[in-house]
Amino acid sequence: MSLAVTGGLLAGEKVGLRAEEGLIVELGPDVEPRPRDDTLDAGGAILVPPLINGHTHAAMTLFRGHGDDLPLMRWLQEKIWPVERRLEPEDVYWGTRLACLEMARSGTTRFWDMYWHPEAAARAVRDAGIRATVAAPLIDVEGGGEALREAALRSIDALTESGACDRVDIGLAPHAIYTVTEASLRWIAELSAERGLPVQIHLSETEQEVTDCLAAHGVRPAHYLDRVGLLSPRTVLSHGTWLDDSELELIALRGAVVVTNPVANLKLAVGRVFPYPRARAAGAQVGLGTDGPGSNNALDLFADMKLLALLQKHEARDPAVISAEETWEIATGRRAPLLGATQGLEVGEPADFLLLRADAPELSFGELPAALVYAASGAVVQSTVVAGRPVMRDRQVEGSEEVLARALERARRLGLALA
Ligand SMILES: [Zn+2]
Repeated sequence: MSLAVTGGLLAGEKVGLRAEEGLIVELGPDVEPRPRDDTLDAGGAILVPPLINGHTHAAMTLFRGHGDDLPLMRWLQEKIWPVERRLEPEDVYWGTRLACLEMARSGTTRFWDMYWHPEAAARAVRDAGIRATVAAPLIDVEGGGEALREAALRSIDALTESGACDRVDIGLAPHAIYTVTEASLRWIAELSAERGLPVQIHLSETEQEVTDCLAAHGVRPAHYLDRVGLLSPRTVLSHGTWLDDSELELIALRGAVVVTNPVANLKLAVGRVFPYPRARAAGAQVGLGTDGPGSNNALDLFADMKLLALLQKHEARDPAVISAEETWEIATGRRAPLLGATQGLEVGEPADFLLLRADAPELSFGELPAALVYAASGAVVQSTVVAGRPVMRDRQVEGSEEVLARALERARRLGLALA
């Protein structure tokens, strides 16, 4: 399969692009479509790399708006967990398909997912045409860890058999240090090292987590995670809002990634802003995530990107503390290679990119990074291309009506839909 894009704009210059077998093979002012190419007329649209959502629970689109405005534990115990116990793989499949649809429409082409029935999520990602690293949440608060070990190995087998493809990677997702025993965390670290699997874990989201960790283990969360062998170049830490300097330095030293989720942190009122300037000074890799649509409640990463920049400026009382360009780099995964960004729009790289409407007023003035971060929303995305295949073409995503209808049907079954 090959694709030719004509009439695009790159760094102010007119360009065309050709992709074959998922890779960019030509890029420049004189690129012409070949007879068998699928063609996409950019019509003057701006070519940019796509966004990467470093942390979400995609199928929770079904839970959107269910029990908002409650404290975290009440929300989980009263609203989420009782329904999650009744979840079937088809619920996860259609919830994730809806998430993929929303992400494609707002320029995200890859995400890191932690949710039940991950093989159903993987199938959804494969069918939607985008990319993800998927993992089952591993939880183990009592017992000898056999159940967790079985669940982990079962999810890897199920993903290998039915869900994985060259766009879907398999991961491990211990839920948090307070929901998994020390022995199980050590076992997960060994499994990750043995099989080269990436690990995602919620870390240092609340002050309570830090206090409890100090009381139970005598050290702060990142030091504890290092002690059990889980701080490695394969580790993605979600949140990190309460990390201190010594933890950020250790994270940088071990080559792990912190994914900040500013919208979810504010909505759940975690009481602190992720110390980004300190993370940067320590040399830690940083990415951006939405967290689940149950606690955000949107998947348009343009909104999270703007909030990240504004929140950091406000917290530092310094508008220069983070620039639009730097924010864009974080949101496109360029500051954390583990998240899976390509090297950019270059020959030989995967053909993953966005075409943005150059006639959108949000993008028509001033400098592009500022326009993208402070003015734009996902609505400026005209077309989204993944591995040389347009998953959205001129705002149209194939099968979108069915995806929304089926997701609503599943939400109704769970008693979650509005109507
Ligand atoms: Zn989360």
